[in-house]
Amino acid sequence: MNRALATAFPAAHCELDFRNAFELAVATILSAQCTDVRVNQTTPALFARYPDAKAFAEADRAELEEYIRPTGFFRNKANSLIGLGQAVTDDYDGELPATMDALVKLPGIGRKTANVILGNAFGVPGITVDTHFGRLVRRWGWTTEEDPVKVEHAVGALIERKEWTDLSHRVIFHGRRVCHARKPACGACILAADCPSYGLGPTDPAAAAALIKGPEAEHLLELVGR
Ligand code: SF4
Repeated sequence: MNRALATAFPAAHCELDFRNAFELAVATILSAQCTDVRVNQTTPALFARYPDAKAFAEADRAELEEYIRPTGFFRNKANSLIGLGQAVTDDYDGELPATMDALVKLPGIGRKTANVILGNAFGVPGITVDTHFGRLVRRWGWTTEEDPVKVEHAVGALIERKEWTDLSHRVIFHGRRVCHARKPACGACILAADCPSYGLGPTDPAAAAALIKGPEAEHLLELVGR
């Protein structure tokens, strides 16, 4: 299934825009309960105004909140970003640390965010268990665990370590484009033959094809012979 997903999404990647590890940390914090598209609309102006950890540490809270308001939960997120800026400035000379242990002690950064940062900014393999990832691997019978950390360990035991970051992107892409929460496109899904949940969504090829989203739609339909 991982190999099929690699064929389906050869360019799967982190959909947040960033230029360095600190920017990725900020973007990931902003992505909570918000789409990556909206975060990417918000961050260019934000990073122009606050170019590094020190700038976030010294930010005027009300001004910062205005910049990030479109991403929702902006008061909590402003707290996290100011706290993150302060901790990274005071404890790490302005550079984000590159270990799980250090990252999860920083304000606003939990294990999921730390895995995103490790995998995408530091090249350390990490499994990112977001809502898509958990939902899909349970549909596939890879695990029955609900707790994200347990899901991470269960999938980590099935898939070789060097694949972890790419696997995470592929699964999340598949969740966003094909295997939707309510109406998965089973009749146009490259995993149909191997998926124990086949039939959860429409199996009629035309009805399923209409459910496929995203810029890879044509490629995905070609792979299933449409
Ligand atoms: S067959 Fe259906 S449930 Fe299984 S992965 Fe494909 S879209 Fe999801």
